[in-house]
Amino acid sequence: MPAGRAIVRLPAMKPSSALPPRRLGALRRRLLAWYAKHKRDLPWRETGNPYRVFVSEFMLQQTQVATVIPRFELFLDRFPTLEALAAADPEAVAAAWSGLGYYRRARNLHASAAVLVREHAGRIPEDPSLLRELPGVGEYTAAALASLIHGAPRAVVDGNVIRVLTRLVALDRPPGRAATDREIRELAQALLEPAAAGDWNQAVMELGATVCLPRHPACDACPWRRECRARAEGTAESFPRRRPPAPVIEIQRALGVFRRGGRVLLRRRRDTRLLEGTWELPGVDAAPEEDALEPLVEELETMTGGPVRIGAELTRFRHSITRRRIAVAAFEAYAHPAPTARGKDRAWVGPATLENYPVSSMTAKVMRALASGRTSR
Ligand code: SF4
Repeated sequence: MPAGRAIVRLPAMKPSSALPPRRLGALRRRLLAWYAKHKRDLPWRETGNPYRVFVSEFMLQQTQVATVIPRFELFLDRFPTLEALAAADPEAVAAAWSGLGYYRRARNLHASAAVLVREHAGRIPEDPSLLRELPGVGEYTAAALASLIHGAPRAVVDGNVIRVLTRLVALDRPPGRAATDREIRELAQALLEPAAAGDWNQAVMELGATVCLPRHPACDACPWRRECRARAEGTAESFPRRRPPAPVIEIQRALGVFRRGGRVLLRRRRDTRLLEGTWELPGVDAAPEEDALEPLVEELETMTGGPVRIGAELTRFRHSITRRRIAVAAFEAYAHPAPTARGKDRAWVGPATLENYPVSSMTAKVMRALASGRTSR
């Protein structure tokens, strides 16, 4: 809180009831005037080209504007139209995406372009429900495309919008619960200027990205400084409210290491969205107090189709993934007949070929221990 400012406690109220018509009019006027003056010059804005907006919205999912800008024009040079993108080779699209990460988005963008050309005559629909049928287009992206390209009166809600709006009304409940998220969506929709939906959505996001920052919001430069309840209370940085941290989960993971020469057998993960497509040592999860070796043998026998014997423990360490604390142990494993790497989902991998296989950090730790010879034996 700035020095010298008195804390003003305002009574709690439902967010959308904070918007009587006069107040709503002032909020809209002030934000749109601020946006007209302060908006950043971004390469997908003001071109009137729906394809540029379409590409930018996929790129901006999970990636900062500053990272997207240099990649955007290069991508557009390579695929200047929706039709060119739809007809492109998937590997060429992935290569042009390099530097942006989260390659699933490149695959979704490519697949969406193909659907638009095939089923919508190369036009990006206005109806958010049609947009949501495109691969990789969720509620946020559908609202963004509909409003930015067609002016459809659909409010977007992303992390920036949530921060700005929860501060504006000092929403005392953490986002992430269905009822609270609904309140925020209703507030965003109630605020939206329907006559300028695209500009409005960009303006709220721009305010969050450049003024209403997570730390040290520049309230004195904010067009909503007079209306903002969190600013009046001097508590802006405490919004959005945070949920209490989820409890830590302790588990153990037992891994089987089949070896051939200097290589080990890896398999491709398929069973979960987490780390899907990465390569791993075969293994099982178990509760901390359970004996993990018996389920490990069962898992390896199912995988190899024959009897498996577990040998010495090769390495043991602790590993964390989000809130899971994992006691990892890798064991020598022997199968009769010897396991094979037939098919696309298994491979014998050694230090020279490891870089060709995306692996999780847990698998990489085991591989490093094996390569160094610093095992627990
Ligand atoms: Fe955010 Fe401050 Fe503006 Fe409120 S006054 S919306 S806290 S920048």
